[in-house]
Amino acid sequence: MFIEHNSTSNQSGWIEVICGSMFSGKTEELIRRLRRAQIANQAVEIFKPAIDTRYSENEVVSHNQTTIPSTVVQSAQQILLLTGEVKVVGIDEAQFFDEEIVPVVTELANKGIRVIIAGLDMDYTANPFGPMPALLAKAEFITKVHAICQKCGALANHSYRKTLRPDQVFLGEKEAYEPRCRACFYESMSPRLPR
Ligand code: ZN
Repeated sequence: MFIEHNSTSNQSGWIEVICGSMFSGKTEELIRRLRRAQIANQAVEIFKPAIDTRYSENEVVSHNQTTIPSTVVQSAQQILLLTGEVKVVGIDEAQFFDEEIVPVVTELANKGIRVIIAGLDMDYTANPFGPMPALLAKAEFITKVHAICQKCGALANHSYRKTLRPDQVFLGEKEAYEPRCRACFYESMSPRLPR
């Protein structure tokens, strides 16, 4: 369980990244941390990219339907304009932002803001997803959460796409994806992956 770092200086912000496969509880963990910040009377703002419209335009919704109000942004740069007096910034589905998100979160943390980022670390081919590698490198704190493999019940860190669509971004839920462990993922994916 992640325990909040106690800042010794008001000048200092930092970056936390919560990553993992689909259905691993990333958004639940993001919401848990944001709620605790709200309980501590800290001003909180949550952002998600416009691309993720699976459930709700103005709320971050996790798979277990816990919600928290959020702002949909068209670009990472927009986040800078919308974070006036906040102490904590949450960013969900960070893998869908472009590389511009990296200097944006750096600037926020340098200004003294605690930035909590949730995102898929790997795409459906098990390659690093979008800006996530750079965000992981920049973060002070990293939490990798795991799902349960739908084939064998082991810990899962891969998102297995059940359809043959080749695009990196294909929004879907349980009809399109299932969490898989390494062995079960590669057993099905190896014939589909380029060598
Ligand atoms: Zn498995």
